[in-house]
Amino acid sequence: MSDPAELKFPPPQCEVFVFGDWTLKVTKSHIMGSQCELPSLCTEDTEVDKLCNLCRYERLLTLPSLPDMVFANNSLRIEHKCGGSITFSALDALRCVNDREDTLQVAHAQVWKEARADCEFAKKVVKPYDWTYTTNFRGTLSGSLKAEASTERIDLDKLRVQEEIKFYEEIFLYEDELDDNGSTRCVVKVRVMPSGFFVVFRHYLRVDQVIVRVNDTRLYSPVGASYILRETSTREAPISKLRVDSSVYNTPDLVWQHLPLVKESIDKLVVES
Ligand SMILES: [Zn+2]
Repeated sequence: MSDPAELKFPPPQCEVFVFGDWTLKVTKSHIMGSQCELPSLCTEDTEVDKLCNLCRYERLLTLPSLPDMVFANNSLRIEHKCGGSITFSALDALRCVNDREDTLQVAHAQVWKEARADCEFAKKVVKPYDWTYTTNFRGTLSGSLKAEASTERIDLDKLRVQEEIKFYEEIFLYEDELDDNGSTRCVVKVRVMPSGFFVVFRHYLRVDQVIVRVNDTRLYSPVGASYILRETSTREAPISKLRVDSSVYNTPDLVWQHLPLVKESIDKLVVES
């Protein structure tokens, strides 16, 4: 008999695009359900890769709760022909969420308390953790692809030049409306042009009346190169200090340019021979 989960949902859709020595693989599927998909199979003794997505996430993550919408099968994997790769997935992004501390409350204690004085959501939190699901994930490296220190920047002006788009995908990893108190959203986008490929992995957070924050990791690899430039930035501002319309700060792709840079790190991913 076939897997009951497969009867319920169509299989994940995979797309592969080859660009020189690099292969870009996009996997997209449905939102993970809020209940076990394989109740007869998932037990405490079941090996982790045989569990349904929900049970696997609960086994592997130490967070006391998960975002409302998790795309457990979605991923972007970029692989060099020598075997090294970088992968973006919801599981690895959620592994990088702080599971010990309510970091937003620590940083914005007063305004946070005022904004949520009678908010049921805040009272639900029994174990301290970052309920905004802010992640400092920068992609999972494996094989011969290694990070090394670099000062080489991605030329964003060059990327603004109109070029033919040979491949484009937007891959949702997770999202939650924070019980109508805002939005937390994790998305990765990939674009391949004749001059190179460009990736933006973005975590966007808005807590109404409190803060807007955007954590971005950008990757760029020029055509013919056997390396990838990687830049990670944190930008944030209290909403009271933002001088833009709510239509701008509600839109992750617009607001980041209006937020002051808080933290940044750059490095270079190289294929070790
Ligand atoms: Zn299960």
